[in-house]
Amino acid sequence: LSERLSGVFDRLTKQGALSEEDVATALREVRVALLEADVSLPVARDFVKVVQEKATGQAVTKSITPGQQVVKIVHDALIDVLKGEGEPGALKIDNPPAPILMVGLQGSGKTTTTAKLAKRLKDRDGKRVLMASLDVNRPAAMEQLAILGAQIGVDTLPIVKGEDPVAIAKRAKTQAGLGGYDVYMLDTAGRLHIDAELIAQAAAVRDVANPRETLLVVDGLTGQDAVNVATEFDDKIGVSGVVLTRMDGDGRGGAALSMRAVTGKPIKYVGLGEKMDAIETFEPERIAGRILGMGDIVALVEKAQETLELEQSERMMKRMAKGQFNMNDLKMQLEQMIKMGGMQGMMGMMPGMGKMAKQVENAGFDDKVLKHQIALIQSMTKKERANPQILQASRKKRIAKGAGMEVSELNKLLKMQRQMGDMMKKMGKMGKGGMLKQAMK
Ligand code: GDP
Ligand code: MG
Repeated sequence: LSERLSGVFDRLTKQGALSEEDVATALREVRVALLEADVSLPVARDFVKVVQEKATGQAVTKSITPGQQVVKIVHDALIDVLKGEGEPGALKIDNPPAPILMVGLQGSGKTTTTAKLAKRLKDRDGKRVLMASLDVNRPAAMEQLAILGAQIGVDTLPIVKGEDPVAIAKRAKTQAGLGGYDVYMLDTAGRLHIDAELIAQAAAVRDVANPRETLLVVDGLTGQDAVNVATEFDDKIGVSGVVLTRMDGDGRGGAALSMRAVTGKPIKYVGLGEKMDAIETFEPERIAGRILGMGDIVALVEKAQETLELEQSERMMKRMAKGQFNMNDLKMQLEQMIKMGGMQGMMGMMPGMGKMAKQVENAGFDDKVLKHQIALIQSMTKKERANPQILQASRKKRIAKGAGMEVSELNKLLKMQRQMGDMMKKMGKMGKGGMLKQAMK
C-alpha cells in the first residue's frame, strides 16, 4: 500500500495547485491502494468519501504542496477511523473473579495472547490470574498453556482428561472463586474455518462463564478474511474487543482499518512477536503511519502547521500591543483554547485549578460553547470580523441565524470581544516598557 500511495502522492506533489478534480483522481487511486491492502470495498469507499469531504475546502498550509496536505488529511482520517472510544487497552476486570473469554480461529494466536495478557495483568496491574485451556481437540494445546503459565508465573487450571469445554469453564469459575483470583481467562479451541460446531461450543462456554470481556484474536496478516471472521464471531457470540496478532510481520495493517470500520469493535491490543512481552496496547497513530508509510511527509506538514500557528500568534501579539483586537483575533484565541482541551483542560493542567475547572464546567462554559462562538464568528463577513462595531440589528439577526444561534448569544460574544479589546488597549498603553512589548522581545 505504501508504495502505491507514494506513487500517487509523488505525482501530486509535483503539481503546483490542486483542483477538486485532482483530489478526486488522487483519491480514486487511494481507494485502489486500500483495496490492494485488503481493506474491504465498502470501507475503502466510505473512507475515501470522508477524506474527500475533509480535503475539499480545506486551506493548504503555507510552504506545503497540496499533495503533501492530502497525505496529512488521509493520515488524520485513518487515525479517526482506527481509534475507538475510551482508554486504549482497557479491560473490564472489576468484580473478581472476572472472566475473560478468548475466541478466534486456530493458529490466530489465542493461547499465546492469553498468556501475554495474563502476564501483563499480573506484572502491571498486580492481578492474580488463573488461565484455563478449553481446547479439548488438541491435548498438546492444553500442555502449551500450562508450559507458558509456568514460564510467566501464572497459575493454570489443572488438566482433567475427558472433560468437555463447558465442564472446564465451570471448574475454572469455581476454582477462580475459591482461589481468590481477580481474573480467569478461558482459552478456547479454534478451527481452521468458522463452522457451526465451533460457534456452538464458544456460545455454550460464554453462557456458562458470562464473560466480562470476550476478546477476538485475529491474525493481522489475514486481511479481508479477518473482517469476515470478526463479523461472524461478533454476530454469533458477541465480541467486546479485538486483538490483532502478528503485527510484527510485514502486515499491511489494512485489516485493522476494515475491522474497526465494519465491526466498530475496539482493537485493544496488538501482538508483536512470539515472546511473552510482545504485546502492546493498540495505537492508531502507529498503525495509520504504517498503512500510509509516509511518516516523513506527515511530520513535515505538522511542522509547517506549527510554524504557521507561531507566525499567527506573533502577528496577533503585535496587533494586541497596538491595542487592536477584532473578531479574527478572538476566533484564533477560541480555537487555541479548544486545541488545549478547552477551559477545563487548560485549568486541569494548572496546579490547584482543578476545582475551578469543575465550576467552569458547571457554568456550561465548555468546548460546545467555544464551538458555538466560533460558528458565530464564521457566520460574519470579512468586513464584520475586522470591524465588529458595524454590527446593527439586521446584521446581528443574519449572523445569529447563519450560525443557528440566538442574537443574545451573539451579544455576549460581542461584549467579550469589546472587553478583551479594552484590556489589550490598556496593556498596549503601558508604553515602551509595557509587558506585552517586553514579552515579545
Ligand atoms: P492458537 O491456535 O490461536 O492458540 O494460536 P497460538 O497461540 O498457539 O499461536 C500460533 C503460533 O503463532 C505460535 O507459534 C505463536 O508463537 C505464534 N504467534 C502468536 N502471536 C504472535 C505474534 O503476535 N507474532 C508472531 N510473530 N507470532 C505469534
Ligand atoms: Mg491455542
